[in-house]
Amino acid sequence: MKAHTAYLTFNTPERCAIVNINSKVEAELAKSGIKEGLCLVNAMHITSSVFINDNESGLHQDFLEWVEKLAPYSRGGYKHNLTGEDNGDAHLKRTVMGREVVVAVTAGKLDFGPWERIFYGEFDGKRNKRVLVKIIGE
Ligand code: ZN
Repeated sequence: MKAHTAYLTFNTPERCAIVNINSKVEAELAKSGIKEGLCLVNAMHITSSVFINDNESGLHQDFLEWVEKLAPYSRGGYKHNLTGEDNGDAHLKRTVMGREVVVAVTAGKLDFGPWERIFYGEFDGKRNKRVLVKIIGE
């Protein structure tokens, strides 16, 4: 069995953002040389997400507005912020949007449904955050 590991770094200028990382994951798959296997992509920070959905900008705005309604930014509104942090909302947003995705690798390609693409969801940005890509197979 072969294995390929990569760490991608993101630093979004906005506090909350959705970034299409599909081509970066495909580049790692190409480097791996793996034709049949599994590709795990996970956020390594507890205030950011990796998820699969449609590459449509209106939907991305809908996601950002939806999680802001569920967990609005509020310095005084979360017990977590009693630690001195201000990102209680970001931890909740990350949990709703998910930590990781696993995609099958078939014939050297990510075996997606017709509209599936991989996105990074940032909820406490403006600093370097990492995403792990782990591809295993033959
Ligand atoms: Zn925190």
